[in-house]
Amino acid sequence: MSDQHPPTNFIRQLVAADIEAGRYRQGITTRFPPEPNGYLHIGHAKSICLNFGLARDFDGHCALRFDDTNPDRESPEFVEAIKSDVRWLGFDWEGRLHHASDYFEQLYEFAIELIDSGNAYVCDLSPDEIRSTRGTLTEPGVNSPFRDRSREENLALFKKMRAGAFAEGSRVLRARIDMASPNLHLRDPTLYRIRYQTHHNTGDHWCIYPMYDFTHPLSDAIEGVTHSLCTLEFEDNRALYDWVLEHVTTPSRPYQTEFSRLSLEYTVVSKRLLTILVEQKVVSGWDDPRMPTLSGMRRRGYPPEALVDFCTRIGVTRNHQNVELSVLENCVREALDPRTPRAFAVIRPLKLVIENYPEDQEEDLAALNHPGDESQGTRQLSFCRELYIEHDDFLEDPPKKFFRLAPGREVRLRYAYLVTCREVVRDASGNIVEIRCTYDPQSRGGNAPDGRKVKGTIHWVSARHSVRAEARLYQPLFSDPEPGFSSDGDLDSVLNATSLTTLDDIQVEPGLAQAKPGTVFQFERLGYFCVDRDSTNSMAVFNRTVGLRDSWARSRSG
Ligand code: ATP
Ligand code: MG
Repeated sequence: MSDQHPPTNFIRQLVAADIEAGRYRQGITTRFPPEPNGYLHIGHAKSICLNFGLARDFDGHCALRFDDTNPDRESPEFVEAIKSDVRWLGFDWEGRLHHASDYFEQLYEFAIELIDSGNAYVCDLSPDEIRSTRGTLTEPGVNSPFRDRSREENLALFKKMRAGAFAEGSRVLRARIDMASPNLHLRDPTLYRIRYQTHHNTGDHWCIYPMYDFTHPLSDAIEGVTHSLCTLEFEDNRALYDWVLEHVTTPSRPYQTEFSRLSLEYTVVSKRLLTILVEQKVVSGWDDPRMPTLSGMRRRGYPPEALVDFCTRIGVTRNHQNVELSVLENCVREALDPRTPRAFAVIRPLKLVIENYPEDQEEDLAALNHPGDESQGTRQLSFCRELYIEHDDFLEDPPKKFFRLAPGREVRLRYAYLVTCREVVRDASGNIVEIRCTYDPQSRGGNAPDGRKVKGTIHWVSARHSVRAEARLYQPLFSDPEPGFSSDGDLDSVLNATSLTTLDDIQVEPGLAQAKPGTVFQFERLGYFCVDRDSTNSMAVFNRTVGLRDSWARSRSG
């Protein structure tokens, strides 16, 4: 990671001003607080970079806290995946690994304190009744008939709730604030509910679970968080955040600041929606390379530095922005380009036969591993009479600007020879199946002996030596730049039907066949490709990480 500080933003300015004013002599503390109900996505990367980045740059600390107050959808699988994704991005919580569920006992005591001071009560209304008496933006709510229960009765009932004396949904603990507040979050919000559900961390120890709005500020206070950063959808919750901290005796007083969520064109960046894609099997899993999850991007071959760089470039503001995909893809290309070895692969093979090259002859030709960095060395490419070239590199009736192969035309086979197309061979249905050429034996290495101009250069592999492999080409999952859907909506109408193209007969240099999953190559002229974990000994599988150029500007207008 670079030692340079990211550019400033309103949160950095706020933190700097707080430090300047001597407010945090012990240093600042931030936290990244995912709920372990799914895998992390690129939006989380923004929050991780912000929280851990502040701690790093202002000599503070950043904790990883699992906000695990909802036993229904949380699991240890998600906890472990989140930990490894944060590490993969390059951040370290330095032993500060917390769970909101670690505080259940303390939170319970805080609730007792609220009851004691007359600021919370046990309410016997059903969830539906609570909703229907809450009022609207224009109408005040209605006080619960249980609002004026005595302190003793409330204490006794709450203890019985904990002891498992009541059925799920039969009672809740509510804050006693103001049913007429213009902020709906302050209309006696629920603090605790009854759930007979095994929790991934506390097992069956509890049957009452604290709500997010109660847990979050108190967890922050317990951990000494100074700056509690969250996304804008929590802006209206801030009043309740503050109310809780002002009515409970806590060891510290954190403050919440909101910033805008990352949203990315043609992508959904919310765990709730990504869960639907996984559950409805639109994708193969959380780490499907089309997913905007960190695990999906890792599998696709995105390096973590590219994601950190991306988060730096998009910045932190309070304005909604739907970031263009090209911004992300450029970060990926820039991170990969300097260090990624080049290789030859032909993804839509067309046979090319060199008529004047002896049948039994073979030779090795040196190719640079990185044309821009000779220190990365060379490798040998086997060459013989029969090669494969890209189907796209041949046109029988080419337009003017087509500098590749066509009848009678001469092109350079990169690192090899100049060849001239003499004949096109077709099958019975008229498809082109083979190109017959002659080569100039004096042009070894690809240079014309007489200095004649040969404009086009194409890549190739030896048909005798190359190895068959599979390539998976990706496009966005959605056809709309701002996709929206719900669990009961018609997913098919928003999905891009061609988000995955599988090519199961690509031909690659033999050296690539056994490469380890996760290794990235640049297939010259085609893009970056990453070895997938589905590879077997008999067949390597490559994910196209990203193309070589930004294709977005063009495809969008077309
Ligand atoms: P859901 O969609 O189910 O609410 P989520 O994707 O918001 O899930 P959380 O576990 O609620 O995931 O988020 C953990 C932290 O990451 C929160 O602080 C949240 O504000 C932040 N975060 C989540 N999504 C984004 C996003 N798109 N951009 C920036 N930060 C995000
Ligand atoms: Mg959320």
